[in-house]
Amino acid sequence: MSLTKFFYKTINLLLPDTCMLCRMVVDDPAPHLCCTHCWSSLARFELQCRHCGRPLPTDGVGDLICGACQTNPLTLGLTIAPLVYAEEAVDLVHALKFSNSLRAARTLSCALSERILSTATQLPKAIVPTPISWRRHFRRGYNQSDRLAHELATRLELPIRYPLRRRHGTVQHGNSRAQREAQPMKVFTIAESDLPDHIALVDDVITTGTTMKNMSKTLARAGVQRVDLWAPCRASSDF
Ligand SMILES: [Zn+2]
Ligand SMILES: [Zn+2]
Repeated sequence: MSLTKFFYKTINLLLPDTCMLCRMVVDDPAPHLCCTHCWSSLARFELQCRHCGRPLPTDGVGDLICGACQTNPLTLGLTIAPLVYAEEAVDLVHALKFSNSLRAARTLSCALSERILSTATQLPKAIVPTPISWRRHFRRGYNQSDRLAHELATRLELPIRYPLRRRHGTVQHGNSRAQREAQPMKVFTIAESDLPDHIALVDDVITTGTTMKNMSKTLARAGVQRVDLWAPCRASSDF
């Protein structure tokens, strides 16, 4: 046995790996850090609108675009958000968002990358995490979307770019759709030039999608032709 293997076996004996959700000891943890039962039990959407991720009836046929996106699409690119934002998925997002859990970032990014690899026919040329304002970053010490973006970048071998800046005082957590849409469009500004023509924006949860739409429009004004929206979770209904 090599020294490294011995080291990890000893660590594992002292601090055994446990499932992210049920805390059962897992002998040989999968990359998603859950036991087989919990991983397969995480609620996932089956059929979703390709532009906004809204769930669609599973007997649906055609081009998989919801009624709202027929006239006013969230993005003209592909939205991927596989997990229903409820129960365990909420716990994982809270662990990432409020406790800086890198293990939660790993589990959530695995669920997302699994769906990206089975759905996306064309990967973007760069990943862009949803920015938080510098004051919020200073207070919290990290940006949860950046944690997810790093996991995805490693998993999908894609570069991360930071072309967006977010103004302070524009946090939308808990706001209704009307309140969010009443926010001025200039929440985000562009801080980099020479952007690739195809980018994926990363956030932890899509609720109304207003934040992502604002970022997407800002990137489009900077010349980006296609913006995909990636988040591990989506609300099952609009707020
Ligand atoms: Zn489990
Ligand atoms: Zn839609």
